[in-house]
Amino acid sequence: MQLALGHISTDRVDFLKQGDVSVHVLRLDKIHPVISGNKWFKLQYYLEDAKKQQKKKIVTFGGAWSNHIVATAAAASMHGLSSAGIIRGEKPSHLSPTLEKAMQYGMELHFISREAYGKKEIPFAKKDDEYYISEGGYGEKGAEGASDILNYADKNFTHYCCATGTGTMTAGLVRAVAKEQKVVGISVMKNNEDLQENVRALLHETHRDWEIIHDYHFGGYAKQKPALISFMNDFYRQTSVPSDFVYTGKLFYAINDLISINFFPGGSRLLLIHSGGLQGNVSLEKGTLIF
Ligand SMILES: *Cc1c(COP(=O)(O)O)cnc(C)c1O
Repeated sequence: MQLALGHISTDRVDFLKQGDVSVHVLRLDKIHPVISGNKWFKLQYYLEDAKKQQKKKIVTFGGAWSNHIVATAAAASMHGLSSAGIIRGEKPSHLSPTLEKAMQYGMELHFISREAYGKKEIPFAKKDDEYYISEGGYGEKGAEGASDILNYADKNFTHYCCATGTGTMTAGLVRAVAKEQKVVGISVMKNNEDLQENVRALLHETHRDWEIIHDYHFGGYAKQKPALISFMNDFYRQTSVPSDFVYTGKLFYAINDLISINFFPGGSRLLLIHSGGLQGNVSLEKGTLIF
């Protein structure tokens, strides 16, 4: 995919610094305004595979504000493939900006009830030239793509930290780190008990050090609280790094908190993955965020 990967930078942020733990942020949010962050990495091998199999259309699943839906629409169109999104819930009278953007990239939208969505029902007859990608890009090829993220980062960090949704990116990072390094995933969902197993299923070797932390979901997926929003604003004021309230805001908040309770040993060098997702902030009331 022709994207300007040269824009990825690693920014040192002193806001989170405490004692001799240092923190850097890998700015995947700068890759592309729409296919931001980890979605670009997670989609790349699926799209390659679809083309190799001479498929014509990518079909995937997501909600009205899904970064994955809009990223898939954009990536498919860049690859000359058509796309369809199966969207959770009845069709609203006004489409979200996320879905508007997906349509601009040529994605066909199919709305299905939450119940049908839960069963991942496909509301049309399947065709041979369609290539299906699971919700959030979860799967082997997604993890393979996500492990490429660390090709853009220094190898000398002690901890690689990310927000965890489906666990695909977390698994990709675990696959890419060395034995003495650790991956810390911050779950953005409440009580997602399957997560541990979902990550493990995407690993080839089991003897890597990784941990998912479940204490920073702020009420659940895409839920937020004033403390999170004010943290995101403070973080931006002091570092000029914008974050999104669904994923990276929770990551930065969690790491700040974990540093303050000495979760990380002295001398740790942390790399936080800024996995993008900024487009989702449009769903917040205007003026909520200062960026
Ligand atoms: C999708 C997404 C994640 C979660 O990635 P998973 O591989 O599903 O765990 C994290 N951050 C952002 C910004 C995302 O859009």
